[in-house]
Amino acid sequence: MSYTIKENGRNSLDGLEKAEDVIEWLKKNGYEKEANVILKRKIFHAILADFLNFVLESLKASEKGKTSISYALLRKPFKDNLLYLEWLISDGNELLHLVESESTDEYEIGKIRRYKRWKLKSILQQAMDNNEFKDHLHILDSKYMYELRYDYNAPFSLELMWNKSNHLVTTMKKIQSKDFNDVFLTEEDYSERWNYYYSKVPLLLIYSTGIVIRLYEELFDEISEDVKLINKAFILTKWISTFDHFHGENIIKNLLEDVEITLKCEECYKSTSLNDVQILDLQYNSHVECKHCGEYIRLSEYHFNDK
Ligand SMILES: [Zn+2]
Repeated sequence: MSYTIKENGRNSLDGLEKAEDVIEWLKKNGYEKEANVILKRKIFHAILADFLNFVLESLKASEKGKTSISYALLRKPFKDNLLYLEWLISDGNELLHLVESESTDEYEIGKIRRYKRWKLKSILQQAMDNNEFKDHLHILDSKYMYELRYDYNAPFSLELMWNKSNHLVTTMKKIQSKDFNDVFLTEEDYSERWNYYYSKVPLLLIYSTGIVIRLYEELFDEISEDVKLINKAFILTKWISTFDHFHGENIIKNLLEDVEITLKCEECYKSTSLNDVQILDLQYNSHVECKHCGEYIRLSEYHFNDK
């Protein structure tokens, strides 16, 4: 994560090499903005890595049929990690200030939900407004996002699933257990849980991708519109094609009408341009073949083509 700092008439950066605490030195010498960018990058990186670890293990648990574990593992990434990433978008300087001043009461999720619900909703609203997938996932708005992740009273809330998978006995009205939660499941229960999992998790992941792209651009580098368009088309066509073939096909056709798609191979670092047949195959294929070395270029990752 290299970062170039220019003096622009401020104190000489020579002192930085001898500084014991780089952040403190930057702040004391007129480089507060740069210090904040470095801190935000660190938070972004660490929270995202943790988020991905939990989501990956949840997906693996679901693949093995361990529904209760797969739900339990979603709680931290979607309830906690994602909110701090959203907060970095809505007011990153505020979050930094609270973390640095160790005001944990002000940024602990449980307390915010209980005593500052307006704050939680405002973070979600601003994160949604800045999410490039907002217009494509029509059922998603910030109200839905709040109800899904934080509201016990919404019938579709993940909170209901999380409580059942994390506790054997629950007494709250909405989630009161009949015997022991999630240990005497019928075939029908399993099927219901899987349907729910695969209707909500893809939506949350696409939304999260929008959050990550936004933060990457703000803290690291801009991504060209063409590159964003190509990646967006890949993600949306694959998701929508799982329930509507023609809609999925139209996304790839319409979004990519005027864009040439070239993908870089990680093996030989050369680019492969896709022809019309390969482009339509994107709808269901997981990879394309590199025309130079024959290795697979995976489609299920973000492609930074112009780098
Ligand atoms: Zn290659």
